[in-house]
Amino acid sequence: PRNTAAPPRALGAIAPGAILGDRSGQLRAAVAALDAHPDVTVTRCSPVYEAEAHTLDGTPQPAYLNAVVTASTSLDPEALLDVLLAIEQEAGRTRAHRWASRTLDLDLVLYADLHLDTARLSVPHPRLAERRFVLQPLADLAPDRVVPRWNETVADLLAACPDRAALRCTDFALRDDEPQDASHGGGSHGGGSHGGGSHGGGDEEPRRNRSEG
Ligand code: ADP
Ligand code: MG
Repeated sequence: PRNTAAPPRALGAIAPGAILGDRSGQLRAAVAALDAHPDVTVTRCSPVYEAEAHTLDGTPQPAYLNAVVTASTSLDPEALLDVLLAIEQEAGRTRAHRWASRTLDLDLVLYADLHLDTARLSVPHPRLAERRFVLQPLADLAPDRVVPRWNETVADLLAACPDRAALRCTDFALRDDEPQDASHGGGSHGGGSHGGGSHGGGDEEPRRNRSEG
């Protein structure tokens, strides 16, 4: 039976990425802000990956943390994008200077089965197929989902992804009660090694299995 009171909801996939500063804190804050929106419910969170910075000339660069969350929403794609941009901007307000590079990026990766290209929004995200740091966490959540634009599954896009930058699965959790389960997409692709052990950078503490709040 239909619940006629509930607006139709679509499932979206959103990729938060953070560079510089308290990267995992920024990712956690972004997910919390998204979930706090009255028309958005974060349903699942991937593990958090640390991506080796892309450098063309070997210059060392700070590393990104990347993840993917799925969210159920009654917002249309453009309205959801506005929410993401507002959360990015809010995070940007804490930047040291106005022109400092943006430290939080929130991309709309998928929106239901929609394929849309407008001046301000392209879904699926047009660079998804070349970004292992998005495909891997997306594959952890939804390896069998068929991605419009390419009409291939997430797992197949990951297997064919030319991006060779190393990815390391970290111990950071996007939410306190998130089960640490990357086994879904693990084994068969040979890609994401679940590196246990050390996590560099004293700016962050891994937080897992804390049940306060
Ligand atoms: P990227 O995240 O692709 O490296 P930016 O975050 O700087 O680049 O791009 C921001 C702009 O990209 C936004 O103003 C938005 O209008 C546009 N855009 C188009 N498609 C998307 C999408 N799927 N997710 C997020 N932003 C998008
Ligand atoms: Mg972006």
